[in-house]
Amino acid sequence: MEPGRKIYNNYGWYLRQKYQGKKVYKVIVDAGFTCPNRDGLKGYGGCTYCNVDSFTPEAARHLPSLAEQVEKGMARARHSYRAEKFIIYFQPNTNTYAPAEELKKLYDEALSVNSQDVVGLSVGTRPDCLDPEKIALLESYTGRLDVDLEMGMESIYDETLARINRGCTHADLEKALQLVENSPLEVCVHTIFGFPWESREMMLRYADVINRFPQIRFVKLHHLHIVEGSILGVHYKRKPFKLFTLEEYADFLCQFIPLLREDVVIQRLFGLADRELLIAPQWKLKRSEIQAYIDHALESNGIRQGAALSRAS
Ligand code: SF4
Repeated sequence: MEPGRKIYNNYGWYLRQKYQGKKVYKVIVDAGFTCPNRDGLKGYGGCTYCNVDSFTPEAARHLPSLAEQVEKGMARARHSYRAEKFIIYFQPNTNTYAPAEELKKLYDEALSVNSQDVVGLSVGTRPDCLDPEKIALLESYTGRLDVDLEMGMESIYDETLARINRGCTHADLEKALQLVENSPLEVCVHTIFGFPWESREMMLRYADVINRFPQIRFVKLHHLHIVEGSILGVHYKRKPFKLFTLEEYADFLCQFIPLLREDVVIQRLFGLADRELLIAPQWKLKRSEIQAYIDHALESNGIRQGAALSRAS
């Protein structure tokens, strides 16, 4: 297999093909947004698995300007990873949670730095914070950039979404996906596997939902992990509950990936919080070691993305 290529449709390989072998790096920026399930619009406290760092009020964050964040992020990436091209990634909190004209100012500022080297804009948000005007704004950048919209799906079950205080339903996600039907925007959905009340069969059904929407181009698959500063962290410390071991999670992915459409690009197979924040599960391995473990499990089991679908058709 060519270097960088995996037996599943992996993001590193996708970027390499798309940008002719150039090193493309995501520069994360924080525009100081909050979330509607934290500021009272939809609720308070945020999603129960979310970390306290992202709960810091804007005023207390002392954020440098967006232009400064981009400048520094690019310089770091050029120096540490020899990055040549960049995707500007509005990541923390809900990055469409403001009127469209305000969003435009923020996106424009971030995209103005070394614009000749910027190839993409990636915006992380919630499905209930989108409307046609915001979609049109994002689409207006697609003439010169690849633009993707990253949305938390987390679970396909409303009962789970209520239990984790998402403040939105699965129907909200489907509505948001309809807004970008036939749009030049590409969508990435984020999922969490391992809520203790969801069975393996329930989790495997997430693939059916992803497969149904061709506008979903990317996925970030995560296992549930418990971090300091989250509501779930408090509950877990009081009364620990079952979480995936690495072996179980790799085994789950061996079942999940064959169910996933072949053209969906997998940006991530697991999440990993900083060592000082992570409460559980403690797999006690570095990111690269976890990646290698999962890749090995997939390879040694001869897993092929979408294989179960082609067998069924
Ligand atoms: S997970 Fe996302 S939507 Fe939920 S509180 Fe955290 S930043 Fe906001």
